[in-house]
Amino acid sequence: MPGSVGNGDPCTVCPAEGNTRLTGYVPQEKIEEIRDRIDIVHLISEYVVLRKAGRNFIGLCPFHKEKTPSFSVRPDKQIFYCFGCGAGGNAFSFLMNMNGMTFPEAVRYLAGKTGVILPDPKDHPHSGEQVTEREQVYLANKKAAHWFARNLASEESAHVRAYLAGRGMSQEVVESFRLGYATEGWSALRTSFEREKVPLPAVEKAGLIIKGKEGTYYDRFRGRLMIPIEDTEGRVIAFGGRVMGQGEPKYLNSPESPVYIKGRHLYGLNRSKEHIRKAGHAILVEGYFDFLALWNAGVHPVVASLGTALTKEQVALLRRYTQKVYITFDSDEAGKKALMRSLELFLAADIDAWAVSLPQGCDPDSCIQTYGKDGFLDALTGALPIETYFLDRVLSKERTVAGEKNAVREAVHLSTSITDPISRNLFLRRVSERFGIDYEILKRQGHDGYKHVASTEEGPRMNTQLDILKDQADKLELAIVHLILENPRRVQDVSDLGLLDYFSEGEVKSIAQKIVRIVGKDGQGAVNMDDVIHAIDNPPLREAILRGVMEENPPPAEVVERMFFDTAEQLRKQWFKKRHRNLQMKLVKAQRDGNGELCMCLLKEKESLIRQEKNGDASAHRESDSLKSREIPNG
Ligand SMILES: [Zn+2]
Repeated sequence: MPGSVGNGDPCTVCPAEGNTRLTGYVPQEKIEEIRDRIDIVHLISEYVVLRKAGRNFIGLCPFHKEKTPSFSVRPDKQIFYCFGCGAGGNAFSFLMNMNGMTFPEAVRYLAGKTGVILPDPKDHPHSGEQVTEREQVYLANKKAAHWFARNLASEESAHVRAYLAGRGMSQEVVESFRLGYATEGWSALRTSFEREKVPLPAVEKAGLIIKGKEGTYYDRFRGRLMIPIEDTEGRVIAFGGRVMGQGEPKYLNSPESPVYIKGRHLYGLNRSKEHIRKAGHAILVEGYFDFLALWNAGVHPVVASLGTALTKEQVALLRRYTQKVYITFDSDEAGKKALMRSLELFLAADIDAWAVSLPQGCDPDSCIQTYGKDGFLDALTGALPIETYFLDRVLSKERTVAGEKNAVREAVHLSTSITDPISRNLFLRRVSERFGIDYEILKRQGHDGYKHVASTEEGPRMNTQLDILKDQADKLELAIVHLILENPRRVQDVSDLGLLDYFSEGEVKSIAQKIVRIVGKDGQGAVNMDDVIHAIDNPPLREAILRGVMEENPPPAEVVERMFFDTAEQLRKQWFKKRHRNLQMKLVKAQRDGNGELCMCLLKEKESLIRQEKNGDASAHRESDSLKSREIPNG
């Protein structure tokens, strides 16, 4: 039951996570209050572009790669389901899957959004370490960001403010992005945390202080301009620190922590996501200052890859907000190499990627300084599709035979990342033209490579768990469950027909019983999908029910009625057929064993079974089910 949240029971709100143990205590009534207030369409819209389609909203699934939407959200039931990969659940499980939140984190996050006030977790004896550790790290980062920002405003940071002003950074940007300063010296931040009685191990976990040889902590960031890195929820998860004056390294970043994994985040996305959605594209830059310079100049649909090589996870993250990306890497050799690496990722993710060539020797920051916003936007207009850029600017530079050979090999290899077969062939055709190599040869090589990639790739879970279900649950029983979930008025017929008696013992039956119980004989009770979905421990079964609920175009009432009675009749027939077969087998065995008494008994039972089937009597067969009850009621 969802009510067991907090006592260490398996997580029933997101059973898809397996038996996630919960460690944070949240009272059940609070969870219900949040659930009542959330608008799941609104929530998911922050991550997925949704459009209305019938009674559902649909969009591209954030959990697997797809080109046509199979991800559906049903507002009236407050659930989501993906027909492609089988992901599904409620608002809580969405956040858990999407952001890697634990259940209590998702609850707390949604409580904040919906204005539900939760009790202090510290007041509960079961408050868990895992949750509080992450939260302590968030808190340490938040406090540090505040402390750094305060430093920047102080007298001793005049040179840092002068530096920012020299780069044309407005005060508004400095404050909005919470830029700060880590003072010189070894213990200023540590002392500040000690004063505030923040446990230092948590600050160490956040990567803000380091334990020295003597066991004392010292500050990681010293004499650096500090740039807080936020996640898409706006929480500070790490810092980038730029050295002021001389010193190495120029940029020092937080190490990984319970809340920060390298290559999973994009700098600025939290601020720019709405702009990206509105603009229909994102501009990808490399460094913090590229981002800040563009933002400062009024170019807002920007994200920065945080200096490291772009990762698959970052591309997937970006893909949630847009399908079109302008890539503006530095025009130096290192920048070109970085662009080449990204090319493969974008092709594989099937993102419409454009390579922006900035004026020689420019990065986005210096381009803005030198040519202004318009100069930068001009460069955007002149952007080339990334494949064209690759062919024109990279491959065409090769002059030697060996160089060309390598270039062709590289191009063919690259073509294996292109998931769309038409685009792949078009690309190869252009390689063939460029190098005068027979297209068929390239195509064959590319195709072999593609097959190889496709077979080794760890693809999305396209075969959903439904296949497993085939042996476990009865189609007719499931159909009845779907029908009564959609049409609670039919629950009365289920009772009148004694339909539950024809269900085989198992989970589907207990779900049906639960629905019947909730709705009540009068058909007035409201079924909460959450309660039903999350009472199911069996992932394939849960998926099947979600899928049924999400199916489009509910038929008109009279069709539903006919469907219901047809299905009920089939279910009944099936039940009798099974019983007959069972009896027949027992009879054969009894005859073979020469057990006359048993034979007589079984024959009587058979007779009774036939009578029941004819009368449509749903009450007697329970007894006739067992040989122990020799007294078989008449009629
Ligand atoms: Zn999916």
